Amino acid sequence: MKKTSAYRSLYAYPWDVAEEGVPAFIAKTLERGLNGVTLAASYHAGKFLRPNARSGGRVVFPEDGVVYFDPDHQRYGELRAQPHSDPALRRLFAELADDGRLNVHAWTVLLHNSRLGAAYPQYTARNAFGDSYVYSLCPAQPAVFEYAVALACDAARQGVRSVVLETPGWLPYAHGYHHEFAQLRSNVWLDTMLGLCFCDACVKAAGDAGIDGAGLRQRIAGRIDAYLKAPVDAIEAQAAAWLAADLLDDQELAAYIRQRQAVVTEVVSTIRAGLPAGVQLAVIPTVQRPTAQSWIEGSDLRALAAAADWLEVPFYEADAARVIADAHDTLRRLPTTGESVSTLGSDPKSDMGSAVKVRAILRPGAPDLGDGAQLPQALAGLAALGIRDFAFYNHGLLRSERLDALGAALHHFDRSAS
Ligand SMILES: [Zn+2]
Ligand SMILES: [Zn+2]
Repeated sequence: MKKTSAYRSLYAYPWDVAEEGVPAFIAKTLERGLNGVTLAASYHAGKFLRPNARSGGRVVFPEDGVVYFDPDHQRYGELRAQPHSDPALRRLFAELADDGRLNVHAWTVLLHNSRLGAAYPQYTARNAFGDSYVYSLCPAQPAVFEYAVALACDAARQGVRSVVLETPGWLPYAHGYHHEFAQLRSNVWLDTMLGLCFCDACVKAAGDAGIDGAGLRQRIAGRIDAYLKAPVDAIEAQAAAWLAADLLDDQELAAYIRQRQAVVTEVVSTIRAGLPAGVQLAVIPTVQRPTAQSWIEGSDLRALAAAADWLEVPFYEADAARVIADAHDTLRRLPTTGESVSTLGSDPKSDMGSAVKVRAILRPGAPDLGDGAQLPQALAGLAALGIRDFAFYNHGLLRSERLDALGAALHHFDRSAS
């Protein structure tokens, strides 16, 4: 069978790969029709259930905000990368790269770092009331910008084909923080208003662009306050309409959001310029649904597609039809063929239109794609739109039965495509 050279990568956590053992992990991943691993290089805390655990725990709580390699401390300024305490986990990038059979990609969580947020509250995102969000570093802060560039370039040194950036901007308000709780309903209007950062650096950047950030901050705080005190709970469709109307009515709000997007694009452009030419850059613009709302986190799909080599889009949807609809909408927001900026020169993908800038991430198991059963339809539908590159989430979280089903679907897909 002819093997595809397109991206067929499996997202993986270092602790799961280490437990399986690098040679066994590589053999199994190749057998399942994949040619790459997108391994966490920088990652946050969490609580993960491990269905395939052998000797290790069934539930793992990883160290927060650490990197899974030995950082080059010279590269960093005030904010520094903290290595994971276990040297075995820090050796995985080198072991996978030395073996050479899988393409290795560095899944790099940039600005979602509660460890750094707790240590440097002055650099976290702050809402219209000045409340600090410990889990979200603000990219408008020069020290944070410098850290983001240093971290991405450090990750690029780990023998990887590409660096995949997650959270290059502000996190959304709703985040799954420890016991996150409210006794009123969340909605997209409230979450968007609470997610806007008005820290000193953001207000200053807005001012430099001719936007009255302080005045906007007062207006937003007033609107949130009035809503919180009112005896109402908007249903989701109402909240979406409120948000659209606010963006139309309040030109300064729209300009402020575009200014945020310019900050994130600049982070990504600066990272691209700092990476070696042989290492590609992919950006995950959001992990929220749908992709069209990436702007809430400061991601400008069109600008990021031009600034990076790839947009890596998590099409995390309940069924294949939603995946395909979201992909259709995502593609129409990207630069078309003539405008496409390929930083790697003569790649034939530059003839293929905007779809060639997109790598899709799919979750072939619960809660997506009919618990994974609709993976073949999703792959076929995305391929029909011109998307050729796929990653799958996640090696340690899916049952091995789901991973085997992924392998079968992928063998079939790549056989019929070639
Ligand atoms: Zn988190
Ligand atoms: Zn800010």
